[in-house]
Amino acid sequence: MTEATGIVGEFLSLKEETDADLLTMQCGDFYEFFAEDAEIVADELELKVSQKSSHGSSYPMAGVPVDDLTPYLKALVERGYRVAVADQYETDSGHAREIVRVVTPGTLLETSDADAQYLAAIVADSSTRGDDPGYGLAFADVTTGRFLVAEADDADEALTELYRFDPVEVLPGPEVRADDDLLGLVRERLEATLTLHETEAFAPKRADHAVREQFGDGTVDRLGVGEPAVAAAGAVLAYVEETGAGVLASMTRIQAHRGDDHVTLDATTQRNLELTETMQGEREGSLFATIDHTATSAGGRLLKEWLQRPRRSLADLERRQESVAALSTAALARDEIQDALGEAYDLARLASKASHGSADARDLVAVRETLSVLPAVADAVGSNPDLADSPLVDVLERPDREDARELRAELEDAIVEDPPSTVTQGELFREGYDDELDGVIERHEAVREWLDTLADREKRQYGLNHVTVDRNKTDGYYIQVGKSAADGVPGHYEQIKTLKNSKRFTTDELEEKEREVLRLEERRGELEYELFEELRDEVAARAELLQDVGRALATVDALASLATHAAENRWVEPDLRRDDRLEIEQGRHPVVEQTTEFVPNDVRLDEDRDFLVVTGPNMSGKSTYMRQVAAIVLLAQIGSFVPAKDAEIGLVDGIFTRVGALDELAQGRSTFMVEMSELSNILHTATEESLVILDEVGRGTATYDGISIAWAATEYLHNEVRAKTLFATHYHELTGLAEKLPRVANVHVAADERDGEVTFLRTVRDGPTDRSYGIHVADLAGVPDPVVDRSREVLGRLREEKAIEAKGGPSSEPVQTVFDVSSGQFRGPANADGGERPTVEGADPKSALDPETERVLEDLADVDVNETPPVELLSKVREWQRRLEE
Ligand code: ADP
Repeated sequence: MTEATGIVGEFLSLKEETDADLLTMQCGDFYEFFAEDAEIVADELELKVSQKSSHGSSYPMAGVPVDDLTPYLKALVERGYRVAVADQYETDSGHAREIVRVVTPGTLLETSDADAQYLAAIVADSSTRGDDPGYGLAFADVTTGRFLVAEADDADEALTELYRFDPVEVLPGPEVRADDDLLGLVRERLEATLTLHETEAFAPKRADHAVREQFGDGTVDRLGVGEPAVAAAGAVLAYVEETGAGVLASMTRIQAHRGDDHVTLDATTQRNLELTETMQGEREGSLFATIDHTATSAGGRLLKEWLQRPRRSLADLERRQESVAALSTAALARDEIQDALGEAYDLARLASKASHGSADARDLVAVRETLSVLPAVADAVGSNPDLADSPLVDVLERPDREDARELRAELEDAIVEDPPSTVTQGELFREGYDDELDGVIERHEAVREWLDTLADREKRQYGLNHVTVDRNKTDGYYIQVGKSAADGVPGHYEQIKTLKNSKRFTTDELEEKEREVLRLEERRGELEYELFEELRDEVAARAELLQDVGRALATVDALASLATHAAENRWVEPDLRRDDRLEIEQGRHPVVEQTTEFVPNDVRLDEDRDFLVVTGPNMSGKSTYMRQVAAIVLLAQIGSFVPAKDAEIGLVDGIFTRVGALDELAQGRSTFMVEMSELSNILHTATEESLVILDEVGRGTATYDGISIAWAATEYLHNEVRAKTLFATHYHELTGLAEKLPRVANVHVAADERDGEVTFLRTVRDGPTDRSYGIHVADLAGVPDPVVDRSREVLGRLREEKAIEAKGGPSSEPVQTVFDVSSGQFRGPANADGGERPTVEGADPKSALDPETERVLEDLADVDVNETPPVELLSKVREWQRRLEE
């Protein structure tokens, strides 16, 4: 193909300049895509492709009208493309084009989604060598101006942080880019576009400078984070600037997100607990969708953030609880607050739009209306004694109320009640806002008045009937006279058009007024646009104030939502003060209780009993029970009330779950491998202060393999990790551990069997379940008798085969007791105190001996040495030796 020239050539050379996936170039009233890009876009968006010939070659071309670009851009970016936009501008010698913006998933401002839209960067610590270097992360939401940095000790933790923020676009730093494993996991776990941004943006010096420039000189010290986090923040800033989103002005604040302040929730756990979407990927049925009664999108966003980032600070949580408690009883005031919030718009997003310069007059009206929600909410809070005494007052005091009032008053004085959406054609401002504008408006109105009354004047003066004055594009202003009267028009009327029933005329005076009105319209449009830009910049300069007010309203909204849910579902305020206790009386599953007649259940864990082995037949409710416990703990740690009659919930530092894997196979990893890496992560990361939920371990491999892993994991969790643990298992053998490991207890979900029918009672009771339940159920289900009988026989054989020892103390201590699979019992002289220190030698030796040896030993024990003659003793010894040799 020959080198393209002309417009396509220009397109292709601009395309060379950018690393964006697609380019669109303004050509007059259209944005056009050419060549390969045209085909991709046409495919994705069902646009029509035409052919553009250029100097003998022909190229595919697809275009959209200039005013319609936004929805197309949005659609492309939401499909993961990064799209460069080249605008056309006038030059002395015609026009030229230049890339003004690259729209990417993380820098898309025109989002219609209420969710946060994070752009993330992840940078490895290059100063440490080895497998796990430590990481710095930065997260920015260009639509709200939120900006956070975080640090992670290893790749797992970094992934957890990434998952927590769920970014739409990730910029990996230079080292991360070379780490295929980590990149693979990021690709697999997140639905984010990976963008390989230029390496220089991550350079420590440059990043440090960018951060100080944006957020102020003391920022880096104040944040107290290391170089990698600063590099990540710098790279994000550089990227936002280079893509031309133009929102840096709304990024007024940077905060450090500290893992230590938050409950660790790894990616698996967030998925397993169905926090924001179900395992099937639906929003409906998630914990968030269930408890969300927020009135604003910012409130919803904040509540979701709370769920994804539960807290560990007792003081913070008690403050939230106090507000929820007050709001849940003050039903009327709560209604009033929620009604007021219903009038609020998304202030953080509006601040970003103002900074970007895309806010129109209606957006400023939205700012004004939302600013007036603040005093309305404050009034509702202030006039209810319970609320007036709650921490809600502090929430509402945080933004500068006086500044907010001033800005609102200013907008009130400036913008008319219901302005048009175009900002270039005037009619935006009220009279009295600007002297010069007032003069223009006055003259404009006067000419308009003259034009409006012209028809009447002409009728009166010249005795004409059927006269109207109007304007259109081709004729400008005209006097239209009905046919019958057209002959009687005065001499200074100049005819410009003849229609079927009428004629159109103009006069010198009308032409003069027309010129004047056009001049004034133009002047008014210009002047108002200038004033509007000034006002919009002023609003943009108050981005921080708007974010503060937005945050305060969102906080009240989220708290009121928690209160509404608590009141409507009879939830109670949990007591969070005792670290070592987890006691829930008549707890329910927050989601399942919405759709099911739920049978409440208790749970009790404390320092003497921190490991529950949960058994029960399939479908009895084991996993619901365990998830219910995890969900209740999580809710407690966002400051929410919980579904129970009474609850004492010691704060945890992390919630870890491992639940039967669903769709991991589709992602190309073996189910068992996934199961084991999840288990490994838990055993490495959980602490004494964590809550661990294990729903079956070892199921993905052969029985003996599986049971061995489950057994050893239980010992390790009990002895070393000492986390509060609930472990549901179908390995009945594990229930024996409760007798030997001091802090392990059995509970089971009860089922009733009568007349061959199993009824699930859904009630959790102490003790293990009936151990032959599986075969029993097979029998009930009508599996043929020979198969059932034979399985009992096989089970018996299997149980006779092997014995397993249980370790009861720290790993340094010796083997302590023996579990005999044949009897399902532990054997050996376990100590009365729960078997803390039995010895292996003390274990019943017979259990390991063959029957003949056992008989020899019995005979030996029976012999009374004093009564037996020596010769007889000798012959007995010889006989025993012979029997033993055999
Ligand atoms: P398992 O883990 O023992 O196989 P599940 O926890 O999956 O059983 O529960 C099986 C079914 O029983 C689910 O449909 C669940 O909604 C219902 N269920 C579980 N616990 C309760 C309960 N306490 N009250 C009412 N329904 C329950």
